[in-house]
Amino acid sequence: MIPITEYAGRDVAVFGLARSGLSAVRALLAGAANVHAWDDNEAARANAEEEGIVLSDINARDWRGFAALVLSPGVPLTHPRPHRVVELARAVGVPIVGDIELFARAVNALPAHGRPKIVGVTGTNGKSTTTALIGHILKSAGRDVRVGGNIGTGVLDLEPLHAGAYYVLELSSYQLDLEESLRCTVAVFLNLTPDHLDRHGDMAGYLAAKRRIFRNQGAGDWAVVGVDDAWGAQICTELTSGARQAAPISAGQALSRGVATLGGRLYDALQGRAELVLDMREAAGLPGRHNAQNAAAAYAACRALGLTTREIAAGIASFPGLEHRLERVGEIEGVRFINDSKATNADATAQALAVYDRVYWIAGGKAKDGGIEALAKFFPRIAKAYLIGEAAPKLALTLAGQAPAVQCATMDKAVTQAFKDARASKDKDAVVLLSPACASFDQYKDFEARGAHFKNLVQALGEVVSQRASA
Ligand code: ADP
Repeated sequence: MIPITEYAGRDVAVFGLARSGLSAVRALLAGAANVHAWDDNEAARANAEEEGIVLSDINARDWRGFAALVLSPGVPLTHPRPHRVVELARAVGVPIVGDIELFARAVNALPAHGRPKIVGVTGTNGKSTTTALIGHILKSAGRDVRVGGNIGTGVLDLEPLHAGAYYVLELSSYQLDLEESLRCTVAVFLNLTPDHLDRHGDMAGYLAAKRRIFRNQGAGDWAVVGVDDAWGAQICTELTSGARQAAPISAGQALSRGVATLGGRLYDALQGRAELVLDMREAAGLPGRHNAQNAAAAYAACRALGLTTREIAAGIASFPGLEHRLERVGEIEGVRFINDSKATNADATAQALAVYDRVYWIAGGKAKDGGIEALAKFFPRIAKAYLIGEAAPKLALTLAGQAPAVQCATMDKAVTQAFKDARASKDKDAVVLLSPACASFDQYKDFEARGAHFKNLVQALGEVVSQRASA
C-alpha cells in the first residue's frame, strides 16, 4: 500500500466504496487522516464495514470541515449531471480528487531523484492489453514493476514508492478527469473512437479528458501516440511542434519516424531508418491488427525507458494475452471458441471480426450508441449471428438482409445453437466468437461474468460431446 499522509489529522470525505474507493480509504487511514467513507449503495457499505471500515454518512456532515472529497471514477463529475456529492463539495469549495491524484501528489512530494518511473496508458480500446504488456516486458527484463490503476489493483494498493520502481498505470478518461498533478515519464495515448459520451458530454469532452495524460510532462519525458485516427494524429503534431519528445505509432501506416506494424511485422523507425523488430506471428498472445497497435505502443514505451530491442521483442513474444480479449477457450469437433467478452463497443468488435474469416458470432447485451452499423464491412464474414440481451432486436434490424441472424435471448441458447450450426456447416476454420459490441449490464454484473459464463458453457459442451463420443 502507498500511505497518503497529506491529510494527516484532517477530515476527508471518500465517496464510492468499490475497489479504488476502498484502497483510498486504507491509504488515507494509514496516513492518519480522519476518513469519512460513504457509498449510496447499501451492499457497498456493508462490504466496507466487513473490512472494518467505519462508515460516516457524509450527507449529514458540515462539508466546510472537509479538506477534500475523494471521488470514485464511476461517479458522474459533469455529465449527464454532477452527482449530488459533487455539488455539495463545489458549493463550499472542497477540492475533488481521485486516487490517481493522491498517488501523483505522493510521488511529487519525493525528491526528484527518489521518484519512481511512471508509465500511463490511455485510449478508447487496448488500454488493459497495452498496460499488461508493458508490465510483462519490463518484468521479463528484470525491472521492479507494479501494474494497476484501472486494471487489476487500485493504484494506492500497489507497493510503496521508491526510485527504482516502475508503475505502469491504466488510466481511464474518468480517472484522468480526477487528476491534476500526475507526471508520466512515458504517457501512451493509443486511439480514440466515440465511447462514454454520456459521461463526457461530447467527443470534445472525451478528448479533453484523455489529453490530460500529457499535461504535466516535461523535459526527458516521452509521449507515445497512436496516429491511426485523426485525433491521435492531431495530438502528435501538436506535441512535436511544442518540442516534446513524441513517438508516433501505427498499425498499418509506414512512418518516416516512429514504430509501426506493417504486413504483420513490427518495425522500429524511431531513428528514421526502419529496422525489423519482430514478426507478430511469434506473438501468439497478441492476434490481430489491433494488438499490433498495442505491441507498437508497448515497444515505443519500453524503448523510451531504455530497454533494448531484444529485451522488448522477447517480452512481446512471451506475452500470454489477457482473459476475455480474443481468448482461445478451446476447440470442439473442429469448431474453435473465442471469448472476446471485453469487446463492449463496435470498434473493439471490429478488431475481432477482422481476425477470423468464417464467424458464428454471438453479440448483444446493453446497446451502445451507434449500434453496429460501423461493422457493415465485416458482415460478409458472418456465417450467422446469435443475438442476446436487450440489444438483440436492434442488432437484428441492422443485420437484416446482410447476414443471417437469430435472436437467442440468452447466452446458453446462443452457444448451443452456434455450435450446432458451425459443426453442421463443415466450414474449415469455423469460429464461434463471443464479441458482444455491447455492455454486459442487462444480463451480467460485468464483462468478466459474461466471459466466464461463456467459458463455462463451452466447457460443459465439450464434456457432453466427449461423453457422447466415448459412449
Ligand atoms: P481497454 O482496457 O481499453 O478496454 P482492452 O485491452 O481490455 O482495452 O481490450 C478491449 C477490447 O478492445 C478487446 O477485446 C479488443 O477487441 C479491442 N482492442 C484491443 N486493443 C485495441 C486497439 N489497439 N484498437 C482497437 N481495439 C482494440
